[in-house]
Amino acid sequence: MKLAARVDRVTPSLTLSVTAKALGMKAEGIDVCSFSAGEPDFDTPAHIKAAAQQALDEGKTRYGPAAGEPLLREAIARKLQQDNQLNYTAENVIVTNGGKHSLYNMMMALIEPGDEVIIPVPYWVSYPEMVKLAGGTPVLVQTTAATGYKITPAQLRQAVTPQTKLFVLNSPSNPTGMVYTPAEISALAEVVVEQDILVVSDEIYEKILYQGAEHLSIGAVSHEAFVRTIVSNGFAKAYSMTGWRVGYLAGAVELIKACSKLQGHSTSNVCTFAQYGAIAALSESQDCVERMRLAFSQRREVMLERINAIPGLSCVVKPTGAFYLFVDISKTGLNSREFSNSLLESQQVAVIPGIAFGADDHIRLSYATDMTTIEKGMDRLEKFMRSLK
Ligand code: PLP
Repeated sequence: MKLAARVDRVTPSLTLSVTAKALGMKAEGIDVCSFSAGEPDFDTPAHIKAAAQQALDEGKTRYGPAAGEPLLREAIARKLQQDNQLNYTAENVIVTNGGKHSLYNMMMALIEPGDEVIIPVPYWVSYPEMVKLAGGTPVLVQTTAATGYKITPAQLRQAVTPQTKLFVLNSPSNPTGMVYTPAEISALAEVVVEQDILVVSDEIYEKILYQGAEHLSIGAVSHEAFVRTIVSNGFAKAYSMTGWRVGYLAGAVELIKACSKLQGHSTSNVCTFAQYGAIAALSESQDCVERMRLAFSQRREVMLERINAIPGLSCVVKPTGAFYLFVDISKTGLNSREFSNSLLESQQVAVIPGIAFGADDHIRLSYATDMTTIEKGMDRLEKFMRSLK
């Protein structure tokens, strides 16, 4: 069978394949410590499940508007106004099948051959692939631990060419866990405005912050930045709703209409009763978000301390957001795939090779898992490192 050339242009998602491999080993009865999945280990809060159950009971089981339930679009617009100081209304919002789908829709609606999209490295695994699927060119900008894996305003300015259409900003970041300060966001906003490019701000981890870190949406910096900003977000991480597949995109009405048009011929609306769970997530108490954040915070401390105590490994940039540690393995002399495969085979510990994020001398560990697994996994990692000598 001759497949379309676009399939060859993209690389399969390594995060999904490592997670699937670890799950497969577990199913075979192997005692695997998995730090691979980017998903909270908590069950979805009861009040959110109850709202979806009620929607099911009330017969909210039918097709709905492609852009989302009007009540949910309104709730999201209110959230963006109140939490992020972004002056959106329901018309500026489309409900999508997760944050991944909102970014995909946006790339498909905006990017065409010849367009360049600036992506800081390390990046979330799907950004460059989505740009390529849309026919555009990813322009990867290398960052270093010295700048906390953050792109500087000078680097951004230097990467802009007449073909630049979009800059992808992800704070808090997957995979590094770093969070741009409000001052850093303002400085990047200045470049976006000065160079007259668009910016998509992936804010899916905005609620998962530590040590006083603050999240500022780039669109809140100024009116000039706001009109060039597109926000992507979702319910998966903050509300432990990964399998529900509810996310959203907010931006200019013409972009949202374009995404609705694409969605109308691809997925249609997001699962109707799942959207009612999302309405409850936004409109009821936010205590569940804080409870999960506190648990992540304790796990982060334990994992960081253990990793930094293992000779040959280091996590120099202390992450202040999301639930990942990005660990430097360069002293081992192994590349990230060799390291991860060998660790999984010899110690049954699953981590994601940094190559998936454009950094082959790192691995990513998620601490969205229970403390027993963390302690056991760190013992095994220590043993693995000793075995390399
Ligand atoms: N953006 C980032 C940075 C992510 O880490 C993820 C998920 O891992 C997503 C977007 C997409 O999330 P979802 O499609 O589950 O809402």
